[in-house]
Amino acid sequence: MKIMSVNAGSSSLKFQLLRMPEELEIASGIVERIGNNNAEFTLKFNGEKFVSKDLVILDHSVAVDLVINSLIEHKVIETLDEIQGVGHRVVQGGELFKDSVIIDDEVVLKIASLNDLAPLHNPAHIIGINAFRKILPNVVQVAVFDTTFHQTMPAENYLYAVPYEWYEKHGVRKYGAHGTSHQYVSQEAIKRLGNKENSKIIVCHIGNGASITAVLDGKSVDTSMGLTPLEGIPMGTRSGNIDPSIFQLMNKKEGYSLEKTLNELNKSSGYLGVSGVSHDSRDIIAAAEQGNKRAQLALDIQSKRIADYIASYYVLLGGLDALVFTAGIGENSKELRLNVCKRLEVLGIEIDEEKNNSRGDKEISKDTSKVKIWVIPTNEEVMIARDVIRLGNFKK
Ligand code: ADP
Repeated sequence: MKIMSVNAGSSSLKFQLLRMPEELEIASGIVERIGNNNAEFTLKFNGEKFVSKDLVILDHSVAVDLVINSLIEHKVIETLDEIQGVGHRVVQGGELFKDSVIIDDEVVLKIASLNDLAPLHNPAHIIGINAFRKILPNVVQVAVFDTTFHQTMPAENYLYAVPYEWYEKHGVRKYGAHGTSHQYVSQEAIKRLGNKENSKIIVCHIGNGASITAVLDGKSVDTSMGLTPLEGIPMGTRSGNIDPSIFQLMNKKEGYSLEKTLNELNKSSGYLGVSGVSHDSRDIIAAAEQGNKRAQLALDIQSKRIADYIASYYVLLGGLDALVFTAGIGENSKELRLNVCKRLEVLGIEIDEEKNNSRGDKEISKDTSKVKIWVIPTNEEVMIARDVIRLGNFKK
């Protein structure tokens, strides 16, 4: 069975076609700069990559048409009917969606009602959903939310200590993010723990965006991102936690508007802000190795804050079976993993430096470590396709 996993942004459309239930990638690709006359389409399959440049792609429907037609043209599929389900990543499901859901008109309206909580993402997802519904009207479409995995958090973990009416009237609370990744990776970890009951896992999803989740018996009980992805640990360009009084100070000293400061906290902070070098961890690591002190400081601030979260979640979970690193930096940066784990030895978390230096999916803890440390590559597309199968009620 072939299932399409889709991530639509405001001017882009990423997809992966998977063979299920084998969970194998058949093809993947991205349409970029939709709405422009210099759009670009990249299709990958069978180890080959096809790039078409300077395309006129006015909207997402044209992009979906292009994707489907090129899959047929390259004989990845013979007809449209071969795609039996489409799963759409949706960043914000608020409190309306406690699970993934089959998309109908009402679901689309509900997703739109959450636009204020994800103004850059949800409207773009809806455009993508509508485009696929138009072109594949008889195919089951499922929305998979980044937030649903965190809907199991107890109120004491998701509520801010602010006037309660803010929550009641405007939904001001922690929703978290990267839920699909945290769920996929924690499920893999639970398997490796022999399906242990009451398993205690901390997942560090560290990419450009980064969040940490405490998972008790397969359920998210706390996570570092909040109302928006700005909360938590410092990231490529985001500050993570700050004292909100900074808004007032920057207004007074520099005349910054609320929007200006918020923009700086989202786009000019984190690695980029502290180091002044780059938002990309590879550049920062290289600069630090060449003696750039601010680059080293950017790395140390982030690792310190990650360790803070891990220590706090260790207490919340009442111990820890496994600490898992995933996403671009978590999977690839031995420097980050070492920097974080060295700060946690007091908790019996012992990293094996030699194992940490090798690449790929692996265990990196010492035999004496009380806690397993794993690198487990994330796979949000597979998790989305699994939900399409689970909800799609397909005949076996
Ligand atoms: P996102 O999905 O949030 O955009 P990714 O999970 O793709 O981000 O992670 C991107 C980050 O991963 C970048 O900072 C990049 O430098 C980092 N990264 C990728 N490969 C390596 C590597 N070999 N060593 C260190 N960092 C890496």
